[in-house]
Amino acid sequence: MLQGKTALVTGSTSGIGLGIAKALAKQGANIVLNGFGDAEGPKAEIAALGVKVAYHGADMSKASEIEAMMKFAADTFGRVDILVNNAGIQHVAKIEDFPIERWDAIIAINLTSAFLATRLALPAMKAANWGRIINVASTHGLVGSAEKSAYVASKHGVVGLTKVTALENATTGVTCNAICPGWVLTPLVQKQVDAKAAAMGLTNEEAKKQLLQEKEPSMQFTTPEELGELAVFFCSAAGNNVRGAAWNMDGGWTAQ
Ligand code: NAD
Repeated sequence: MLQGKTALVTGSTSGIGLGIAKALAKQGANIVLNGFGDAEGPKAEIAALGVKVAYHGADMSKASEIEAMMKFAADTFGRVDILVNNAGIQHVAKIEDFPIERWDAIIAINLTSAFLATRLALPAMKAANWGRIINVASTHGLVGSAEKSAYVASKHGVVGLTKVTALENATTGVTCNAICPGWVLTPLVQKQVDAKAAAMGLTNEEAKKQLLQEKEPSMQFTTPEELGELAVFFCSAAGNNVRGAAWNMDGGWTAQ
């Protein structure tokens, strides 16, 4: 379905981003990976799916590095057809204790990076009259949780940016939608499980159960594979007129 197309997925050396990159690669898209840590393992996993893969280590908090990454993607594969703004970080603390530096980093990486990559991706997508911009927001783009001020603010911002991107391109073949996962058991969430286990004297399994119990009626984690399939749907012909959606995959979290 996506043969000949190129997808750039930010923050795809791990977790949800890697899951989405693999799902798009399975549909034949060439992939540009980004993110910190080991890139060779993820690169090999994508290459094994029979598509071309490249990696750029841009720090998504830096505008100049995002610009270099977008140029690298265009130079390597000709054009970015699918942009998945996924890189994100979390910090948990009450507002009065929240380090200003963490606030700034979360807004930069979770929100501003999506704006910076989108503005650079749009001209080629519009020229081709086809493009898909998929922003990985969160249930926290739709509802709040205590002690997550910067994250919730950034993700509400991502949902807003998604709507405006969709509207500005509504008469073109370029769509923009957001994915709003509930709990997904990635390194980002495992840190929160570990903190809960330590604070409450729980085992890893007990802490995971407690985390789900607080928010997610299904008592199940959403998986990167499931989120990847939603991204594939947005890229399909059936997704042509899905514009500005903030689509949850959250086990009923935001239905409450
Ligand atoms: P993760 O920690 O497994 O992956 C985050 C990725 O972002 C990694 O590849 C990391 O290297 C990269 N990254 C972090 N800072 C970066 C930076 N400055 N520049 C470039 N790359 C950077 O986390 P995840 O859970 O897979 O999260 C991916 C996205 O999904 C995030 O936007 C997160 O907010 C969102 N999300 C996660 C959950 C969840 O339950 N895990 C739920 C809802 C939304």
